[in-house]
Amino acid sequence: MDIHSKIYQDLTRVLVTREEIAASIKKLGQQITNDYQGKDLVVVCILKGACIFFTDLIREIDLPLTTEFMSVSSYGSGTSSTGVVRIVKDLDRNIEKKNVLIVEDIVDSGRTLSYLVSVLNQRHPSSIRIATLLDKPARRVVDLQVQYSCFNIPDAFVVGYGLDYDEKYRNLPDIGILSPKIYESAD
Ligand code: 5GP
Repeated sequence: MDIHSKIYQDLTRVLVTREEIAASIKKLGQQITNDYQGKDLVVVCILKGACIFFTDLIREIDLPLTTEFMSVSSYGSGTSSTGVVRIVKDLDRNIEKKNVLIVEDIVDSGRTLSYLVSVLNQRHPSSIRIATLLDKPARRVVDLQVQYSCFNIPDAFVVGYGLDYDEKYRNLPDIGILSPKIYESAD
């Protein structure tokens, strides 16, 4: 999709281009490949936002990994989460004694992942780490260790490359700041 397409008119601007995303994921994949040599790795995709990042990332990890999918719904208003999380779809397999890598689209307050890590830790994995495409460190309200991150971004609501607003914009190949008039008019 071209940045002149109509859907791009809802953005204030493009924040991270598809080329920057691809280069960063390649580097991250190499780092994860080095870090997990000889280990049993389960890569967990948090649906739906992380799906595009996940499919690109696992193809840059040169290890015999397995994949799992988890879907959580966080209760909150249109553009923020509360940390009250419901598991909509759980993992299919046991993660006991496995090295779990959670793949998330964006860490904002950190509440969603903090909850997920505590839930998964009760299943006795060997380790749990987090890989996120985007991080908004200025918004963090809980202490959360994020081991792998592609981009730190400012406090703005972004869409594209898997990230949605009202289930739309996930198919944008780039990441952009959504024009506030789109969600303000919905309030
Ligand atoms: P947290 O619990 O860290 O505050 O929120 C994490 C979740 O909030 C993300 O998985 C994502 O669903 C949503 N989120 C936070 N910031 C943004 C953003 O800028 N854009 C979009 N599309 N979702 C966001």
